[in-house]
Amino acid sequence: MRCPYCHGSDDKVVDSRGADSGSAIRRRRECLGCGRRYTTYERVEALPLVVLKRGGEREPFEPDKVAAGIRRAAKNRPLDAARVAEVVEEVHDQMQAAGPEVSSEAVGVAVLERLRDLDPVAYLRFASVYKEFSDPRDFEREVALLQKGLEKTTAPKRRGRSRS
Ligand SMILES: [Zn+2]
Repeated sequence: MRCPYCHGSDDKVVDSRGADSGSAIRRRRECLGCGRRYTTYERVEALPLVVLKRGGEREPFEPDKVAAGIRRAAKNRPLDAARVAEVVEEVHDQMQAAGPEVSSEAVGVAVLERLRDLDPVAYLRFASVYKEFSDPRDFEREVALLQKGLEKTTAPKRRGRSRS
């Protein structure tokens, strides 16, 4: 470690303890050149968040992509950019806590759970893309769920319907 005072590179650790409730180690160091003390922190490098897609491929979690999906669903709806950014951030935090690898389903459900409370139209639009609605009855079912407001968001349809 380079001393911040004299830029010498020889030091000794004089104290070492946990910090940030165990997620970091704080070390007091003493420069062997000038004798002054300084502090360093050591922490685990955050793992990149990976999304496992329905087709089996993996890609990095991209907040911008999630935001674009929400914006499309919220077009002409009273859902401002700040609110969308908030949703993305909440979803990102939730996925990070569940990570380092999450399914695209989990991301979609996390978005839907928030949109349901914010804007029913944006919710339905997002659900129609995400759940691959193919029939007006899909909408009816979803609207019924929305009206009950209690049900948990249902899982999307499985891709690759049996072709036997
Ligand atoms: Zn020094």
